[in-house]
Formats: sequence, C-alpha cells, structure tokens
Amino acid sequence: MKRRRRTSHQPAEHLGMKNAHMDRDCFKLRREVMQHVYHAKRLLRPLSIELPRITVRITEFTRHDSGCLGVASLGDSVIWIPSTTITDGEYDLRSIVLHEILHAAFSVGHVADCPMMGAYALVKVGGYTPALDQLFVDYCVNSRAI
Ligand SMILES: [Zn+2]
Repeated sequence: MKRRRRTSHQPAEHLGMKNAHMDRDCFKLRREVMQHVYHAKRLLRPLSIELPRITVRITEFTRHDSGCLGVASLGDSVIWIPSTTITDGEYDLRSIVLHEILHAAFSVGHVADCPMMGAYALVKVGGYTPALDQLFVDYCVNSRAI
C-alpha cells in the first residue's frame, strides 16, 4: 500500500475527492461534524473509554459527486466528510460521523444489515434514535475487548 503524506491528510486519490480549502465556510461545516465527534466522546466517557483525537477533513468531489457520504482511514483516526453530505441535508450527519469514527478509531469494518455499520446504512434526517448511540457504544466496547 502506498503511503500518503500524513501531514496533509489528503483522501485517497481513487475516491475522487480532495480536501476543501480551509476557508470560513469549510470551518463552519467542520464545526458541525466536530459536534458529533464530541457527542461520541460524551457517550464513551462514562465507560472510561478515551476516544483518540479524530482528524476531520471536509472534502469536495473532483470529478463528479459519487454519492459517497463519508470516508475513514481504518484505524488511523482520520475521517473525510464531503461538504455535500452536510449541506444536502438528506441523511443524518450524526449517524454518518459515528459510522466513520468506528472505522477510523476502532477499526470496525462493515457489518451486513447493521443499521450503523452496514455499508449502505443510511439514516435519513430525522431517523436518528438513541438506539444508534447504544449500538455505537456496544461496538466500541466490543472492539476494545479484542
Ligand atoms: Zn463505512
């Protein structure tokens, strides 16, 4: 596997996206994502599980919108969220961020038919429930136990 320059945290070439220019709008979108990262931290705190520092990058599609809603580097604590995922308002951002955190920080892979870790587990806006929080916590606890 080719190593990417770690300092820039650029998404892999084949994904057809690049990091957005860090301007005002980008920071605003990044803050929205970070709120859900903090939510994840709060969920884990009572269990004394320390979430590693998650690097969040907002991306833009370079060719066409592939429909990808988020990407993570497995076990490397970096997540990439296309700006359109946030601005389209079609899918629940918290569910997407929790899904990517499980990839990035806990190396959890896809789990068929799981509402959180299915490859196409898409929670529509308004479809988020506390049951998803519990599922997230369960994954974290179990992945630590391995
Ligand atoms: Zn995934």
